[in-house]
Formats: sequence, structure tokens, C-alpha cells
Amino acid sequence: MVFSPFLSHFECSLTGERFAPGVLTVSSAGKPLWVRYDLPRIAASVLREALRSRPEDLWRYRELLPLALDLKPISLGETQTPLIDLPQLSESLDVRIEVKDEGRLPTGSFKARGLVMAVNMAKALGITRMAIPTNGNAGAALAAYGVRAGIEVHCFCPADTPEANLREIVLQGAQLTRVDGMIDDCGKLVAAGEREGRWFSIATLREPYRIEGKKTMGLELAEQLGWTVPDAIFYPTGGGTGLIGMWKAFDELQALGWIGAKRPRMFAVQAAGCAPIVRAFERGDEFAERWANAATQAHGIRVPAALGDFLILRAVRDSGGAAIAVDEDAIASAWRDAGQRDGLLLCPEGAATLAGARLAREQGLIAPGEHVVLFNCASGYKYPLPVPQP
Ligand SMILES: *Cc1c(COP(=O)(O)O)cnc(C)c1O
Repeated sequence: MVFSPFLSHFECSLTGERFAPGVLTVSSAGKPLWVRYDLPRIAASVLREALRSRPEDLWRYRELLPLALDLKPISLGETQTPLIDLPQLSESLDVRIEVKDEGRLPTGSFKARGLVMAVNMAKALGITRMAIPTNGNAGAALAAYGVRAGIEVHCFCPADTPEANLREIVLQGAQLTRVDGMIDDCGKLVAAGEREGRWFSIATLREPYRIEGKKTMGLELAEQLGWTVPDAIFYPTGGGTGLIGMWKAFDELQALGWIGAKRPRMFAVQAAGCAPIVRAFERGDEFAERWANAATQAHGIRVPAALGDFLILRAVRDSGGAAIAVDEDAIASAWRDAGQRDGLLLCPEGAATLAGARLAREQGLIAPGEHVVLFNCASGYKYPLPVPQP
């Protein structure tokens, strides 16, 4: 058995068309597939209190994950990540800010959550070669888990990807190709290789399991908050897997009766130099047009076009949140302030979420006293650090 007995079917996220389990990519409409579970059966077989005695890692949510229950997962220790308060910055903004510090996961970023799930499923399904277009962190995570699974990994990165990412990919045994272009140009090479039968593409949302791994951010956050949710979540949005995944997680938790109907307002934060989702949000569009000449220091969110654009926009709108763009100076000063005032080293994408929360507060999108969770998606140590200013 490959699949969890609780998994019921796969469903096109645009049309609702159903698919039977198997080696799947996107739907016949070319859109991402949802993994659907028999939630009433899960509710009848596990109580949320039962989780307390389980190891503090992502596998504690096993019933809500796609992998067969009797398979021992390949793992590098996908630990729960802490919620860290920012007392000084909270006081200055008159809100309660906590940071979910995802930099503590294996390979130093939250990409580990998605890739550990995708690689485990790929191995169980007999896939032996995989390729990924990546701004760095996804490639590093795929490389690491690929080695553990005995799967050959090919990473395609924009040539200007941070050096630490390029080196860790090679150190973790993958083939690296630097591409003169953006991540979607890398994606074209990966797609062409897949058509030629050279590998299975594990590009964002082009297979159904990365989102299931990323969804654990929402499960974990709700559990950490005593089965409640914050007022607002600020998510650094590239392909949007985490935002879409958390939104799915909250629905599943409510269906299980583990949380109530309250949802956080979801804020998709992008850099002003690459803000396709923000532009579509402001125009009222369902899909986002590709962003030309994308440029930002926050490489993880330099994604000109996202397959899940409509899912990001839907979650943001349904939640009463917003998509907001922050400029490079705001990212840099948020990066410095989190360190200098509250002792937390963020990554630039994490800093973008702090800049986003500041902007939302200024614009009245966040009320005084609200509880805000920011996602620091990677370790700050992966990046060339800004020169400190007094
Ligand atoms: C991948 C990545 C993001 C964007 O995450 P998505 O879920 O793809 O939107 C943000 N920051 C960092 C550091 C990343 O590696």
C-alpha cells in the first residue's frame, strides 16, 4: 500500500473533477489537485487529545497526510517550529506579533515540509528521478530528501540564486543547472525534460503532495494555539503553497471538529518588484498575469507566475485578508529591526512579512491588540546579511 486508508480521492482545484489515486501531476484542466480524505472516518478514529503523546514533528498529523500508515517515512527530523514573540515591535505597533520560525526545519527552510511529503510519496510510487525549478530552498530540500530516498535529483536555479543555496544543493548530492532566467524559465526546462521522460517534475503544485506537507504549518499553528487560530497570518508569497495549504488545513480541522469556524485573515505579502498576486487582487481578477522583469532581494518570493494564483487569491479574499506589496527599503528595515530590537534574525522573505504587517497596521487592515502571526520561512544564515547600521 502506498496511500493512507483515510485518503479518499483527488480533486481538481478548479473544476472539482475527481481522480483516483495513482502517479498524478495536475488535473485534466491543467490545475493543481487536492488530496481529499474521509474526514468523518478520521474524526471517528482519532481524538485531537491523542496527538499529545506523539513525537513533536510533522508526522504527528499522520491521519491527515497521504502516506500509508504502515510505511516508515524517510525523515531528517521535521521538528515542530516555535512561535516566538517580538515584544518591542509588538508594542510599537500596538498588536501582538509572533513569528513562526520555520528556519529551524531540516535544510533550513519550510520547503522541507512540502518536499519530505512529496519525496516520500514519490518513493512509495516508484519514482526514481525527479527535477525541480527552484529559487534555492526547494532545491536544497529536494536534494537532501532525494539522497535519503535513493532518488536522482536535478535542480534548475536562476543563475543569481544565493550562493549558499547553490552549494547546499551540490553538497546534498543533486545535479545543479544554473539558468539565465527566472524560476518559470527553469520550469520550462523541467517540463520539457518531463515530456521527454527524463524525470518526474516536482515543480510547485504540479504534483499533489507538497501542499499536503506545507499544510502542516496550519495544523501545527492551530495546535500550538490550543486549537484556535490567530486574527491574521502574514505569508511571504511566491508559489503560495503554504498559504493555500494552511487554508486547506483549517477547513479540514473544522470538519474534524478540532477548531471552530473562525479563520485568520490571510495576508499574501509580495515584494513590490514582483507582485503579480497583489496586482490581480487589486484589479479584482481571478487569475494573475505574469510579472515582467521581476526583481527583489527576497529570492524566495521572486516568482513571476504561480500555477495556484487563483487559489491564493481565493483564500485571501474568502478570509477577508489582502495581498500587499512591500518595497525593498521596507524589507531591509524590517530585517534590521527584528534583529536589533527583538533579537530575532529573519530571512529577507520573513522580513517582508514584518514589513507587510507594518503596512497593514498603517492602513487599518489590522486593529490594535490583534494577534498576528508572521512566517519566517528560512534561516537568516542562508543569506548574505545586510551591513549593520547603527
Ligand atoms: C519558497 C519560499 C517562499 C515562498 O513560499 P511559497 O509557499 O512557495 O509561496 C518564501 N520564502 C522562502 C525563503 C522560500 O524558500
